[in-house]
Amino acid sequence: MLEGKIENLKVDSTNVLSVLGTNRDLTLSKKIEKLTIELTNILSVVGTSGEIDASNKIYEVFADMPYYKKNPNLLSHLDFKNDTLGRKNVVAIVKGEKTPSDKTVVLIGHSDTVGISDYSGFEEYATKPYELAKKLKELKLPADVRENLDSGNWLFGRGIFDMKCGVATIMTIMEDITENISEFEGNLVFAAVGDEEESLGGMLAFVPELVKLQEEHGFEYQAVVDTDYMSPRYENDEQKNIYVGTVGKLMPSFYVVGKETHVGQPYKGLDPNLITSAIITEIDKNIEYSDIVDKEVSLPPITLRNRDLKEEYSVQIAKTANLYFNYATHVSTPDMVLEKMKGAAEGHLKR
Ligand SMILES: [Zn+2]
Repeated sequence: MLEGKIENLKVDSTNVLSVLGTNRDLTLSKKIEKLTIELTNILSVVGTSGEIDASNKIYEVFADMPYYKKNPNLLSHLDFKNDTLGRKNVVAIVKGEKTPSDKTVVLIGHSDTVGISDYSGFEEYATKPYELAKKLKELKLPADVRENLDSGNWLFGRGIFDMKCGVATIMTIMEDITENISEFEGNLVFAAVGDEEESLGGMLAFVPELVKLQEEHGFEYQAVVDTDYMSPRYENDEQKNIYVGTVGKLMPSFYVVGKETHVGQPYKGLDPNLITSAIITEIDKNIEYSDIVDKEVSLPPITLRNRDLKEEYSVQIAKTANLYFNYATHVSTPDMVLEKMKGAAEGHLKR
């Protein structure tokens, strides 16, 4: 996970369409849109029972396909380990029948989403893309958002982009492949995983399952394709980027202990917020901390949390604070990053 490089293949939208073919494009894209809406209609915020509703729906859609009616053993639920909510992944396998082959591509999509508190006042529309678009028209919006909304070319809704449309795309293409299974060579293993936005319970349960499936079916894994979202790399970027490789993610954390004092005697104490702000100034968005492999620079660290741990208002300053960073890696190992983080804190504070 921590090794690897990232490259981006630039593909324009014409090429993307030609990959899908011509005549079936419309039917496929309509099917993808329909399923995307159906999946978005289910509120599946990470850490809630809605995640189970989403995985049940995905299971039902597969179970309804003629291929899985004929091959029910190739479709299964996979429980998370020790999960109090009882969440589960859906695993669907396709076995090509053109010529015998062990070659297998793994496909991954997550069915959970982040919360909806940022929809303040519009929560009930977060799962209803068409109604939401109408409601959004009532708002005062920035010009570029208004333009996208009025174009009618975009769908809005919680998790529709990250990544229910990606899950719907895989499922629809799998259905299309199974309808002509005698023409398909190789195998597919798809997992719709949950808990992606929080603790990765779904993926952690799926990894040992992949090893088990390899032993049971003799699969030779060739590649893993994740259809999570991609976005423009800069303003007006028209390229559709496909990312190859892996990026590691770490979350270096600092716990800062200062010394309380009354605000009337500021020099008698040590403000932990002053220390965290100095650490942030040193590390945040500083590409000196990025990994560079094959001219690819990993994203610089940025804070995911910065707070003091004072529980209520008083005229005494905070004693402790904590902060943590999102830290993307291409080659650095956790111990290397820890050394860099210690150096960052010590180096800056000496200045
Ligand atoms: Zn995602």
